[in-house]
Amino acid sequence: MIRIDEKLTGVRTVGIAGHVRPDGDCVGSTLALYNYIKNYYPTLEVTLFLEPIPNIFKFLNRSEEIVNTPDTDVSQFDLFFALDCGDTGRLGSFADFFLNAKSTVCIDHHVSNQAFAGDNYIFPEASSTCELVFELMEEERITKEIAECLYTGMVHDTGVFQYSCTSAKTMNIAGILMEKGIDYPKIIDDTFYTKTFNQNRILGQALLNSSLYLNGRCIVSSVSREEMEAFDVLPKHLDGIVNQLRVTKDVQVAVFLYENEDGSWKGSLRVNGDFNVAEVAIVFGGGGHVKAAGFTIWGSLSECTERVLAEIEKRL
Ligand code: 5GP
Ligand code: MN
Repeated sequence: MIRIDEKLTGVRTVGIAGHVRPDGDCVGSTLALYNYIKNYYPTLEVTLFLEPIPNIFKFLNRSEEIVNTPDTDVSQFDLFFALDCGDTGRLGSFADFFLNAKSTVCIDHHVSNQAFAGDNYIFPEASSTCELVFELMEEERITKEIAECLYTGMVHDTGVFQYSCTSAKTMNIAGILMEKGIDYPKIIDDTFYTKTFNQNRILGQALLNSSLYLNGRCIVSSVSREEMEAFDVLPKHLDGIVNQLRVTKDVQVAVFLYENEDGSWKGSLRVNGDFNVAEVAIVFGGGGHVKAAGFTIWGSLSECTERVLAEIEKRL
């Protein structure tokens, strides 16, 4: 077991990165670690690299200090943290910093994670990377600002403490974070439930576009580039659509595809009950968790739908 404080002794430059298209757990866990280092190791040179984050997470402390491009004066980091990433490919344009660093740490909860760092703290049964980051910090050093980061990530990866990844331990940690004085109902409402008008409208479109397959056990929907443009939304605004598909009565697997700029399709998979969607995502070069996974697939929409359905049917 590594401790954050132990890893930071004797280092001068530290880099932190999360996965491409950062979500709540990715932003929350990396910012929690960044704030911790900034607070307690002011002489360290620390940089947090992430692709542009959704606006809803910009209230988190020091989010304005995040570096969005692989630009730095540091030629080689003494220590580099990869958080919430199942493999180095998920680090996107920041992967080289990780690969060149003198020492590396991975903190993650993806089942597909092959323990690719020097030090690995990987627990697929953990609700979120934030839960793991909490365990590696000194509890008394967790400020209200750090608690806000960790709580936000936990809220997002557990669907507000609802998904089966939520454990008694998750709730205990959330309780400790609540006692740090955070405005938890506001975090939940502002970052999880509140959607813009256009986000709600594209959700409506996605529901209209959905169809049932495999005797109603699978629901598939998609939105095209054209539709995203018509509703003036970006990929980061489509979070939550696949979860709405999943709660369709009697559906076991939900598939949501949206068109990328290059014509490929980004797939999201969710499941009710016993079914491992990470296995399906891995077939297409993606990954994730047993109950929530993703991938990118190339081809026409009907072709891609057929290929994904075939992989699901094999396993149902
Ligand atoms: P989402 O469907 O919300 O994009 O992702 C669900 C889960 O699968 C997340 O934990 C995410 O990190 C993971 N995931 C999504 N897309 C990919 C991908 O292309 N590759 C890998 N390895 N994991 C992914
Ligand atoms: Mn996560």
